[in-house]
Amino acid sequence: MTIPATLDHSTAGLVCLLRLIPHIGLMRLGLAHESWALDSSALFAAVIDGQLFDAQTPGAQVRHVSESETPPGMRHVCVELAYADSGIVVAYHIVTYADSAALETWIVVQNEGDVPRRVTRLDSLALDLPPDGYHLCAFTGAWGAEFEPQRMILNSAITLESRSGRSSHGHHPWFTLVRNGRSLMSGMIAWSGNWVIRFTPKLDGALALSGGLHNWEFAVDLAPGASVAAPPVTLAFATGADLDETAVQFARLGRQFWYPRNALADALPVEWNHWWAYEDRALDEATFRANVDVAARLGIEVCTLDAGWFGAPDADTHWYEQRGDWDRVNTARFPSGIRALADDVHAHGMRFGIWCEIEGLGIHAQLAERHPEFIAMRDGERLGYVCLGNPAAQQWAFETLDRLVRENGCDWIKLDFNLNPGAGCNRTDHGHGAEDGLYAHYRGYYALLDRLRATHPEVVLENCSSGGLRIDPGIARRTHMAFLSDPDWPEHSLQVFWGATCMLAPDACLHWGYSEWAFAEHPSQTFNPCDPALQPHQVDCYTRISMLRRFGFSQRLPDLPEWVAQRYAEHIQFYKTVMRRFVREADMYRLTGQPLGEGRGDRWAGFQYRMPDGNEHLIAIFRLPGGEPSRALRLKHLQPDRVYTLSWIDTGHRAQMNGATLMDAGLHVENLPEEGSAIVLIHG
Ligand SMILES: [Zn+2]
Repeated sequence: MTIPATLDHSTAGLVCLLRLIPHIGLMRLGLAHESWALDSSALFAAVIDGQLFDAQTPGAQVRHVSESETPPGMRHVCVELAYADSGIVVAYHIVTYADSAALETWIVVQNEGDVPRRVTRLDSLALDLPPDGYHLCAFTGAWGAEFEPQRMILNSAITLESRSGRSSHGHHPWFTLVRNGRSLMSGMIAWSGNWVIRFTPKLDGALALSGGLHNWEFAVDLAPGASVAAPPVTLAFATGADLDETAVQFARLGRQFWYPRNALADALPVEWNHWWAYEDRALDEATFRANVDVAARLGIEVCTLDAGWFGAPDADTHWYEQRGDWDRVNTARFPSGIRALADDVHAHGMRFGIWCEIEGLGIHAQLAERHPEFIAMRDGERLGYVCLGNPAAQQWAFETLDRLVRENGCDWIKLDFNLNPGAGCNRTDHGHGAEDGLYAHYRGYYALLDRLRATHPEVVLENCSSGGLRIDPGIARRTHMAFLSDPDWPEHSLQVFWGATCMLAPDACLHWGYSEWAFAEHPSQTFNPCDPALQPHQVDCYTRISMLRRFGFSQRLPDLPEWVAQRYAEHIQFYKTVMRRFVREADMYRLTGQPLGEGRGDRWAGFQYRMPDGNEHLIAIFRLPGGEPSRALRLKHLQPDRVYTLSWIDTGHRAQMNGATLMDAGLHVENLPEEGSAIVLIHG
């Protein structure tokens, strides 16, 4: 084929220009008025038998360029590079999206030689950024402390990474660079295992940015003819310093191109889940059925049976130790079996969800004795999970989930993962090598999720991992939502929602209202719906925080005081009739800084949901303990000279204001108590 001299990959918002002849190189990348990368950029990097292969490697020749646009609006170019006499071919993939200033890149390395080659590093992205002042924004993630913000001036080398074997335990796979306050670039990595992003100042003042799959404890041996793919890294660019300007691009791309969909997921059903209120020890068939009765009366649409239903038929077992025995039902707790519970939920006009940690392997699970070949091990020690890098284990996992759905009539599966695999399995009898076990596990897990969705396209898949420790755009392409965190006390719930929506659309997130923790202990997780001191405005605030995304409860529904149950029913009705359309379709903008747990961060929170036509907006407002008595919230993306009608849904108050006032002076909010909330609908 004839290779074009240049490749123009620009869109309405993005300038992306590559040179292909005589050698591949970057001519321009970024916004129309400001390029974000230098022509010294390596574009990508692979280390093979100790030798670096990138765009700058002497002898690199473009040998083929292919292009497709499926689906429309997503332009995918693949540039194949051959490296003289090495037998190594790198396929460099670039995707851009018509209506955004975003692009995605990754590489596939192929061994076309006749001897095995060892790959020890795969960077999907390698750019040199121009000398300038850069501020880095990132989030760390740990149990009950997801989306803790980090902000720093970039004047020394910084690495963001996960080495836990889970994408969000360490840092979350997201960052933003703000360049001298004038423009910003956000990035995220579509991978659920170990990943890395490196920021390295160079001697000439440029800032080297590279990353993708983590090279820590990683190596893959490529037989002749074999290939290995690195995960996509997505970048989005915007003018100014407002994180919402790239977050909205990611959310739109997610909805249009990345997130799987089905009818039940699209409905954003309101959920009840038994976990925090009962755990496994206090749950049995009668208790579940009693909750189902009340859930139906409140207007709840999905009832989920969480951990505790499987394993040995003994009321004293602990769920964690039994994981793996998904073919056994704990008939001491559920004497009629799981199908009977599902039938009961369906008879009430609701949908049935079930929890499963298909990767997990408890110490008392019979599965380990029946299938010792499934066990992930490192240096002879068990890691506590089933290695899906083993094709036989992957087949077992599929058959197990398929059977759960078919036999029990499940409409929803909550997939959890409660351990850190670290560098992963290094057995050599699984089909993977000693140093790519974790990589193979995640390729296996992704294949399992894809096959499950293909077989049961109507079933909703919820992604959970000790709460929110595996939230990333890779898994978001294969599940319908991410559970944000185990704890959900109000300020923490706002913290994780504020953070998660830098990467994901609100409708890709699930978090319950302030849950009633009956057994687990946490100093801030103290909600008791039966507390005689509980005030209506507190119930409204706690519930509305959950309503910002996919919405649900984990409470003892039959024990609720009548007035609390009544209030929940009203909020559920409002969510169904008004709010969830905004959650599903609107662009969401943050109107305050990030509230943080333990009394830190902003003490007010405001979120603006702007429908795509710009004619309708929903504003959700919260005042946290310690918040000043009043706050002006400056709205975004209104028309300055247009007159808007504001309706406060609690008080019935109405007002008219023009867009310029709402954006400059802001929406003035007062008379909210601490732990108070308001919702304002705006038409114009
Ligand atoms: Zn393995």
